[in-house]
Amino acid sequence: MKNFSATLSPEVNAWIEKTFHPEDPILAEIRTRSVERGLPQIHVGPMDGLHLEVLTRVSGAKKAVEIGTLAGYSGVCIARGLGQGGTLFTFDADRKHMEVAQETFQKAGVADRVRGFVGPAIQNLAKITPEGPFDLVFIDADKANYPAYLEWAAENLRIGGIVLGDNTLAWGMLADEKFSDAEDEEAVLALRKFNQSIAGSGRFRATMLPTGEGLTAGVKVK
Ligand code: SAH
Ligand code: MG
Repeated sequence: MKNFSATLSPEVNAWIEKTFHPEDPILAEIRTRSVERGLPQIHVGPMDGLHLEVLTRVSGAKKAVEIGTLAGYSGVCIARGLGQGGTLFTFDADRKHMEVAQETFQKAGVADRVRGFVGPAIQNLAKITPEGPFDLVFIDADKANYPAYLEWAAENLRIGGIVLGDNTLAWGMLADEKFSDAEDEEAVLALRKFNQSIAGSGRFRATMLPTGEGLTAGVKVK
């Protein structure tokens, strides 16, 4: 969708990236290859990729779920965080995206720990419920279904498991009253509902990490 940065000036951002080196050649190559293959350039940003890897490591997750694979950029970050012996179940509606992602997982040396599912995530998630409960769920697909994905996560995470939602600042429109088009409105209302339920349902202890895009993070407590 839009390029949006909530918090940091370009100068500060550049300094952070120069210092923390979020993007190695394997991750950088995903961006160029996915441009060549005509995929939309809506991967997580370099620092959000690093946040995903670090949060996955912190949580000690071994079984993770990703909704919205695209070219596998965030998937590689999570798979790295899982380490050897971990499993990432990743979902995308678009077969071509998943093909590019499978190349990515091969090149990144994590293909043995990733299982991809093509089709509408809501339907395919039902196929993996017997493999649960899961340690981590990363939500980054169609915004309208974020509330439904959160419900799935609430049912299928272990207590202490973590749910992460990308783009939850809604490109700066989270608190807007008016929208320029119906698509924005649908996405913003769904992201608002997602944040309200994770904050208020009593099933999660949750926070909003004000990364450029907004990364909502909640731990399942009930
Ligand atoms: N997480 C990725 C970016 C995902 S972009 C990264 O940061 O690298 C969002 C993806 O969600 C797109 O690839 C799109 O095909 C997929 N998507 C959209 N609607 C979907 C649905 N209903 N079920 C599964 N995937 C969907
Ligand atoms: Mg995103």
